[in-house]
Amino acid sequence: MKYLKFKNSSEVTPIGKLVCVGRNYAAHAKELGGEVPEFPIIFLKPASNVIFSGEPVVHPDYSNNLHHEVELVLYIGEDIKNGTDESAANAIHGFTLGLDMTLRDLQFEFKAKGDPWTLAKCFDTAAVLTEVVLKKDYQLKGNEIISLSVNGTERQNSSIANMIFSPVEIVKFISKRMTLEKGDLIFTGTPEGVGRVVPGDKIEASLENIGSITTFIK
Ligand code: ZN
Repeated sequence: MKYLKFKNSSEVTPIGKLVCVGRNYAAHAKELGGEVPEFPIIFLKPASNVIFSGEPVVHPDYSNNLHHEVELVLYIGEDIKNGTDESAANAIHGFTLGLDMTLRDLQFEFKAKGDPWTLAKCFDTAAVLTEVVLKKDYQLKGNEIISLSVNGTERQNSSIANMIFSPVEIVKFISKRMTLEKGDLIFTGTPEGVGRVVPGDKIEASLENIGSITTFIK
């Protein structure tokens, strides 16, 4: 079992499910050749995929196109079903930064065949996190800058204000379809600039006022 890490708190919380939103920035939907979605596109990752900043991402040997996706991640701190604007906002107890590592070659093959993307998104070390910043310590303004560089060259840089669906809209949408529980994490989608990484590469990512991640590809 994996546990969350918190800034300024000794709270002990096992990680629940990782619910991820696809194509939540218009410019990223366009770079992948997809439509800007009418509703959030949702997929899951298991908690066992999680590693923390400082640990290496292990490149699976059955893919030739491992991509980075840097994302704002919501920490769900209380159970919620059929969220309203108010209860969805209250269920988000904090924020962290995450990398949604993706096997893009497998994803395109699965999409072309109409098969589930599961194995393109789920593999050991496919979700990199840093410490959760609780809302008591920082209230998200909604225009923080999220960025990622590989070997010192910046590839992704956007304001989270460019998200199509806001955190509250995402929590309302998901919680109408499945109960969200304390310890669940929601990956809110990546801005444009996703790209390939290979063994030996160093990834550095940051989300203004929330935290940063450093990892290597092994
Ligand atoms: Zn993603």
